[in-house]
Amino acid sequence: MTKLSLIIKNAKQLLTLQSDKKGPRIGEEMQHLGIIEHGAVAIDKAIIVDVGKTDEILNKYTSENIIDANGKIVMPGFVDPHTHPIFVQTRENELEMRIKGKSYKEISQSGGGIRSSINAVRKASLEELVTLAEKRINKMLQQGTTTMEAKSGYGLSTDSEIKMLRAIEILNEKSDMDIVPTFLGAHEFPEEYKDNKDKYIRILVDEMLPEVKRQGLSKYCDIFCESYVYNIDQSRYILGKAKEMGFRIRMHADELEPTGGAELSAEIGAITADHLGATSDKGIQAMKRAGVVPILLPGTTFSLGLDHYARARDMINAGLAVTLATDYNPGSCNCDSMQFIISLACIQMRMLPAEAIAASTINGAYSLELADKIGSIEKTKQADIVIMNIPSYQYIPYHLGSNCVDMVIKKGKTVFRNDNNLELITRVQE
Ligand SMILES: [Zn+2]
Repeated sequence: MTKLSLIIKNAKQLLTLQSDKKGPRIGEEMQHLGIIEHGAVAIDKAIIVDVGKTDEILNKYTSENIIDANGKIVMPGFVDPHTHPIFVQTRENELEMRIKGKSYKEISQSGGGIRSSINAVRKASLEELVTLAEKRINKMLQQGTTTMEAKSGYGLSTDSEIKMLRAIEILNEKSDMDIVPTFLGAHEFPEEYKDNKDKYIRILVDEMLPEVKRQGLSKYCDIFCESYVYNIDQSRYILGKAKEMGFRIRMHADELEPTGGAELSAEIGAITADHLGATSDKGIQAMKRAGVVPILLPGTTFSLGLDHYARARDMINAGLAVTLATDYNPGSCNCDSMQFIISLACIQMRMLPAEAIAASTINGAYSLELADKIGSIEKTKQADIVIMNIPSYQYIPYHLGSNCVDMVIKKGKTVFRNDNNLELITRVQE
């Protein structure tokens, strides 16, 4: 018997997300979760060493630390590949403005929106940004997210953008969450350059990008490509320069209007194009040809009270590696729960529960270029595992707005347990 640091046994369904095929899940493959009934996971330190039926695993391995999943669902931790968690003030007043009839665009053009987050972030110390975001990130972890991406973009000056990326770097070291940083200096035009946008673009390209590169703070460059923010020509120019400097590209594309962002993401060779609420057929085909991963953010569409959800079914039918994320941010979507995003994806975009789970785990891992390490429960991968206190995986979208997580295991270590279920931790007598 091989002695290991941890065994998880008696999963009613172990969703491994294993597949013989390399690459993200597309088309029909998104419906296959690699389920093992009565499953178990063998873990040594941070790494998964084996998966199988509970009796097979217990015949091969032993451990002083055995978690009895006791008929619950065991699955990979959620991967949330699009978030904006570094900010100071929340903006619940804007929700009320939207309810009264103001559009997101009107709010942003009258000084609200992204710009209203800028001043506070510029004034805040690095420590303040870390302290505020740490609580938010821990809450995401407690809801089953074990890897996330986090963007800068509320500083919009070289110093404050660097400060945001530093905060993300510190949080990645400090917290149990793995956090992938993305530079988003092109999130908006700051107030002082709103009548001289070319000047800001110069600063972005000549100062910010080289400095982010020099300090090694992010391998990704993102942009808010929308006709009234960064138009197609400005986006093409900035992303082209970023690519020349060796950045990998992510994009906010076609969120509100069919600007041609999806087509540009294909042209530029972006890793992901995100939002895509207004993407055309041409855009979908272009993304397919170029292998761009679409990251859909139904929480934002919901929170803005809009009805044009991204066309997830058409994208799945076209063979795109549809991926989901929260877009957690202080303005348009204050949602930190991938479980709720899965509900919206199923109910509003007609994704099947299995497809939405694949889109929230393995495809998220591919979108962050981390699929060799995370996103599924299989040999040699990192032991990032969530135990869900539910009877079947279909229950995730069905139960609305509640945290069904029983336990979160990150790199083989229990980092969160639901207090009501402490009796589930059992120790085996040798
Ligand atoms: Zn965003």
